[in-house]
Amino acid sequence: MQLRIPGPTPCPKEVLEAVGKPMINHRGTEFLPIISRLVQNLQKVFQTGNDVLLLSSSGTGGLEAAVASFIYPGDQVLATTIGYFGDRWAEIARRQGARVTLLEKPWGESISPVDLDEALYKNPGIKAVLITHTETSTGVTNDIKELARVAKKYNVRVFVDAVSSLGTTELETDEWGLDVVVSASQKGLMAPPGLALVSVSESAWCMYRKEYVRSFYFDLGMTKKHFDEKKQTPSTPALSICFGLDVALEMILEERLENVFYRHRSLAMGLRSRAANAGWQLFPDARIASDAVTALKVPDGVDGHGVVKRLKEEYGIEVGGGLGNFSGKIIRIGHMGNVHRTDIDKIVFALRAIR
Ligand SMILES: *Cc1c(COP(=O)(O)O)cnc(C)c1O
Repeated sequence: MQLRIPGPTPCPKEVLEAVGKPMINHRGTEFLPIISRLVQNLQKVFQTGNDVLLLSSSGTGGLEAAVASFIYPGDQVLATTIGYFGDRWAEIARRQGARVTLLEKPWGESISPVDLDEALYKNPGIKAVLITHTETSTGVTNDIKELARVAKKYNVRVFVDAVSSLGTTELETDEWGLDVVVSASQKGLMAPPGLALVSVSESAWCMYRKEYVRSFYFDLGMTKKHFDEKKQTPSTPALSICFGLDVALEMILEERLENVFYRHRSLAMGLRSRAANAGWQLFPDARIASDAVTALKVPDGVDGHGVVKRLKEEYGIEVGGGLGNFSGKIIRIGHMGNVHRTDIDKIVFALRAIR
């Protein structure tokens, strides 16, 4: 079976071998070099000198930690959303008691710098803006670099959901001035699910007030303190995933980041043009289409669930269906992480055959 859902993604065999290693003492000397190397290599992948913190949770836990640690009840935030995951982050902020202003675009579109400029102009008092880098539900990538530039003009902190984009799409945390960037182990980073990764800038730490943080587990200040003082995590980390991610990051850095991004770009472009040749229509505009996940429109009169089922049963390829209102209307093909030209050939063959 070919796992072509937009996460979790297939792990290289070296990663799976590492995941199967025996347990060690997470407060002992064996774990020290592993966690230190993990953080150093994550800094390279995030392209940052900022803290990168490890949480044992899925990516959503990282989104929750970002909000719980820096956005307090009554704080104003601008939540931008272009799909399912943007909606989710806005809801997390609401539940934490933030006053959330929504900047929403229809599914399949992106947030433009002008949209953001207008929203920040109209809403003074916004403390942070939440932005999804790649919206995995629609296959759209926002231009984070330009959006961050606008936010800086208003002195607003930039929080980025990079769960599906990190390790697939260029993202320069420091160069672009991103304050909090959230990712996870199981998409572009080629490891199993179980770790959320969060980078935090100096400017974001200036917002931190321990007395206002309502969450214990997702208190990033506590996570930082344990790492800085002891190179440990506050509670037991998902050790097996740490072992796997350690190997995966070494593989990514060995291939070199620019080559990893180039590979994803060429695979995505190849898939888009070959799917178009086979009669499939891309869901978003090609100019904003993601390099990590491709969303295709299901032909009129065809049920998308049936397409997903046929790809699985007849071709052994498991893809994602549409979420929310787009259930049955689009299919989503993940091509992040450990994915190569031959994988794209297989999916194109199947798409051609069932169209
Ligand atoms: C997958 C994903 C998430 C959620 O991650 P989980 O690990 O499932 O909690 C959040 N945001 C984006 C953009 C994603 O692709």
